[in-house]
Amino acid sequence: MPALSRFGLRYTGKSGIVALMDDLGSALRANPDMIMMGGGTPARIPAAEQLFRRHLQEIVADPERAFSLLGRYQEPQGDPDVRARVAHLLRNEYGWQLSAANVAITNGGQSAFAILANMLAGDCEARRRVIQFPFVPEYLGYADVGLGDDFFRATRPLIETLPDNFFKYHVDFAGLRIDADVGALCVSRPTNPSGNVLGVDELKKMDGLARAKDVPFIIDAAYGAPFPAIEFGAAEAYWSDNVILMLSVSKLGLPGLRGGLLVAREEVVQAFASANTILNLASGNAGPALLDSLLRTRELLPLCRDTIQPWYRERLAIAVDCLRAELGDLPYALHRPEGAFFLWLWLRDLPGGSLRLYQALKDAGVLVIPGDTCFFGLDAPWEHAQQCVRISYALDASQLRAAARIIGRVARSLYA
Ligand code: PLP
Repeated sequence: MPALSRFGLRYTGKSGIVALMDDLGSALRANPDMIMMGGGTPARIPAAEQLFRRHLQEIVADPERAFSLLGRYQEPQGDPDVRARVAHLLRNEYGWQLSAANVAITNGGQSAFAILANMLAGDCEARRRVIQFPFVPEYLGYADVGLGDDFFRATRPLIETLPDNFFKYHVDFAGLRIDADVGALCVSRPTNPSGNVLGVDELKKMDGLARAKDVPFIIDAAYGAPFPAIEFGAAEAYWSDNVILMLSVSKLGLPGLRGGLLVAREEVVQAFASANTILNLASGNAGPALLDSLLRTRELLPLCRDTIQPWYRERLAIAVDCLRAELGDLPYALHRPEGAFFLWLWLRDLPGGSLRLYQALKDAGVLVIPGDTCFFGLDAPWEHAQQCVRISYALDASQLRAAARIIGRVARSLYA
């Protein structure tokens, strides 16, 4: 290996997400019957797949549309027609005052976040800056994108205990400080991994705090409204000219397209588009083309509302029922599932912690995500962070039942 730069060392060194993805990959190769509840892969929903195939066929059957899809580098912000249509959708649905100039097309949420985070934090002119998470656990894919160390800072959430073995995280506004070295505030909503959906009132409050310090507020709505809108309460959304909203087509069932959107103030969109052009030359055309096609025929929002969301709601009910039955009298709690497609299981005083549970479940044929990977940015250890796992329910009912039996048996054996 040649000598590596700081960039090289940073992105090739030990990383939680790469180690975990490697481990998940090798576990799947070793046991093809493994029940995969660890990834963020969306479910296969036949009606959605059929709709996507029909639109793609129509696009490739039309020589001009096919050429636009395959033969064109789009301009830095992306296809203006698609951006205008997205702005129109957001204006219509939410009344946000947006035009195409407020929208950039991205190569998906992951790379967009990596660009944005490094634009706003790290070595800055006056001082080093950090990205502040108002609460964790947060999406583990964020954890290693920063070019510098100590890139993220997080505030512990408050935990509300709810009836029926549920609990819910809340932002601890009394403990949330936005110091002078904060470059941006960031949340995922719905939150990966907990399935929390922050209320619009909470978003407004955080945005107000951020704005008062002249700091942008990143809202990553990879699972949220307007699409795929995997939210089980009212699918509300929030934007202001201080917000950088990130959307993705992945969780519609299209992670292979690597497409997404960024919605922000014009100068933020332009800055992002410049960086994205240097790194990627242009964003891919497939995601925007399909999105555009679904928007033109007005099939996108009904797809989310009538097909995708009910599908996950049904699987969620099965997963919760089965887990409850199998976990019985163990000291467990589930985060109230408000959105996305994960159950966040908290096993109080779990002997050996979440890594041991992850290993034992892997040996027994079920893959989950050990929760400690999602608590980055805290300044002190927290025992709660060792007691949770993330379980995807984007699976068939029979797999959910089989997995719940294994999770119940394995968890019980750790307490024995
Ligand atoms: N943001 C969140 C919260 C996610 O869970 C994911 C993927 O799991 C992403 C962003 C990245 O999605 P993509 O790069 O596929 O758009």
